[in-house]
Amino acid sequence: MSRFLITLCFSFFLNPTQAYAWNAAGHRLVASIAWQQLSAPSQDFIAAALARHPDYPRWVKKSHSTDPAEIFAEASTWPDDIRNDPRFYNDGREPATAPIAGLPDNARHKRWHYVDLDAQGEVHNGEIDVQIKRLSQLLRPPPTGSALRSTQKNEQISYALPWLLHLVGDIHQPLHVGRNSDAGGNEVEIENPFNKRLPFSSLHTFWDDLPGPPWLRGKRLAKNVADLLDRYPAPEQGNVAQWRNESHRLLDAAYPRENGSLLPIVSETFLKEAREIAHRRIVEAGYRLGNLLENTLTQ
Ligand SMILES: [Zn+2]
Repeated sequence: MSRFLITLCFSFFLNPTQAYAWNAAGHRLVASIAWQQLSAPSQDFIAAALARHPDYPRWVKKSHSTDPAEIFAEASTWPDDIRNDPRFYNDGREPATAPIAGLPDNARHKRWHYVDLDAQGEVHNGEIDVQIKRLSQLLRPPPTGSALRSTQKNEQISYALPWLLHLVGDIHQPLHVGRNSDAGGNEVEIENPFNKRLPFSSLHTFWDDLPGPPWLRGKRLAKNVADLLDRYPAPEQGNVAQWRNESHRLLDAAYPRENGSLLPIVSETFLKEAREIAHRRIVEAGYRLGNLLENTLTQ
């Protein structure tokens, strides 16, 4: 194939934007598993906080439901949804957009979705681990004597929740604790003959899309959750640093080992192994998110 045709193929098939997360199916699966781990008082507290969020009406519309479990699942994709929303801005690169009533911050915070490590294992870029710890702190009641008014505290909690649901999912995706040298697999092009819709993509996008189709909701989502919970046990809870390091160690298994005529190619064995890792990580993220929320809200 001529260089021109190769370039044409890639520019046609490759997703032109950087990928940032498990796709929506992955996040809804994680959130649905987490919801089942929560006590009734914690579920009620979270449902009330999400109902106060300025984008609650959008979640109702997208999920066609006011059921708190479905709203919780929908809220988990909010940090990705705001990437294409003109009310939000790219911090560090653009001037701030007008404040949104009820929301303390309307930056897109793309660096919160990942960390990249250098060859020595040091964090080179990104803030996912730091932000998970900070956002969980925001859920705690204010210290006695705090000057924070209750409306401000309520806004903080409604803001922190969708971010926390999302980032605990992302930190379990191996490519979100990726190698700085290839921007977490965003700069690695692969061929996937098993995906007729997207036969060429970045390695990062391949991993983001493993959990299932992005429109997964309702009964099919519940069925997938039940299947996953049957297949994988509850993990050790660990802590944020452990979740991060586990993902980074999985990178050795995350790159295709065979080469096609042009690019590294996804084989049947590799696809099976990658799906297995993705599904197990989703279950681990779900249990851990549930426990993190329950412990934070009840301490
Ligand atoms: Zn993300």
